[in-house]
Amino acid sequence: MSLPEKFVEKYRTILGSEAENFFASFKEEAVAAFRVNPLKDGQVPFENPIPNTDWGYYGKVSGKSAEHVSGLIYSQEPAAQMVAQVAAPTKGMKVLDLAAAPGGKTTHLLSYLDNTGILVSNEISKKRCKALVENVERFGARNVLVTNESPKKLAQSFKHYFDLIVLDAPCSGEGMFRKDPAAMQYWHEDYPTECAELQKEILREAVKMLTPGGSLVYSTCTWAPEENEAVVNWLLSQYDFLELVEVPKINGMAEGIDMPEAARMYPHRFKGEGQFVAKLQDKRPAQPLASSKLAKSQLNKKEQKLWQAFAKENIKIKLEGLYQTFGDQLYLLPQGLPDISRLKIARNGLHLGTFKKNRFEPSFALGVALKKSEVVQSIEIDIEQFKIYVSGNTLPLSKNYKKGWYQILVNGNGLGFAKVTGNTLKNYFPKGLRFQA
Ligand code: SAM
Repeated sequence: MSLPEKFVEKYRTILGSEAENFFASFKEEAVAAFRVNPLKDGQVPFENPIPNTDWGYYGKVSGKSAEHVSGLIYSQEPAAQMVAQVAAPTKGMKVLDLAAAPGGKTTHLLSYLDNTGILVSNEISKKRCKALVENVERFGARNVLVTNESPKKLAQSFKHYFDLIVLDAPCSGEGMFRKDPAAMQYWHEDYPTECAELQKEILREAVKMLTPGGSLVYSTCTWAPEENEAVVNWLLSQYDFLELVEVPKINGMAEGIDMPEAARMYPHRFKGEGQFVAKLQDKRPAQPLASSKLAKSQLNKKEQKLWQAFAKENIKIKLEGLYQTFGDQLYLLPQGLPDISRLKIARNGLHLGTFKKNRFEPSFALGVALKKSEVVQSIEIDIEQFKIYVSGNTLPLSKNYKKGWYQILVNGNGLGFAKVTGNTLKNYFPKGLRFQA
């Protein structure tokens, strides 16, 4: 792999005596890592923790493994794991991930929120949104709205709404060169400056959505100062109520260029790929919270009866939130959202299931989001049965079960609901997710 000539020239100047070590790091393999999902009950021990992280481990986990399919782990290289760690929302916060697909930062933010507060996870590209929805679903959180909007359109519905906004911006992607050498083909000398214009455009909208006293985390996976410190300096010059907050330097992070508060991750210093992250705080006094009225769920009598009958028989907890139907589909949204009727919604909260003629059929998402301790009946399957289950085939069981819905568990983590009659399990694993393990 040979780096673009102008890129080499540029970083020789920027990095001086460190430049050769930096270039040499491109000859080494990209660092694979993952995060463990704390929302899951069934924890499995892993080796090689990433120092100074709550959930990070070095290593590769197959996309076909039970750990991945049940959402127990999310593959993400170590430098990318630093972004949500810097943002570290506290429970109950309203959080926006403005450029979210495929969902690395989103799922990490959800780990902090622990099913409290609200996360709006937005992605402008419809195609990329599909992977985001899948990843959010697998992670099993109940407090996420996934939108498919431009930042401009989103800002019209969420004026001064969020306590925390993360913009992991579209960028020139230099930090991905090692992991994905194809990223080099888009690079040219002026690319970073072009990207910076787009980044500013997105940030203008982001600031409109920030509540006074809130914070904004800006990150890129590039080393280009034009897209990093220059964009942060532009923000500070445009919005005098924003100030930089120190990012603690851990695991070999470097300071920003003439910006000691920000952090840069270079592969010759930090065991991971390339990343920049800065945190800004809105100095304006926080507004006292207006007591918002809880929106009323709008189920008709029959729907209420069917849902309640299902819930009583199968779920041990009360799922709090706003119940909404779209046709025959039932969703649970977090309370406290503004009017979102003008937005393109990719996932309207947690999909609970479908109203059939005289019954309610639970969704796959519900069977993933609930913990074993929260459902009435479940069946644990082993790895051989897991392979049959994810291929979509009927699973013979070793004993007879009472007829009904059962949550299917692998390593103690939900893989959806299935209908069981006697010793036969009818497979409801979604067609679009099936594979040969
Ligand atoms: N945060 C994601 C993660 O951790 O998985 C990665 C996000 S990626 C670096 C940047 C995202 O910005 C892409 O998904 C891209 O589709 C989106 N994007 C591109 N142009 C955009 C725009 N004009 N406004 C908002 N997002 C944009």
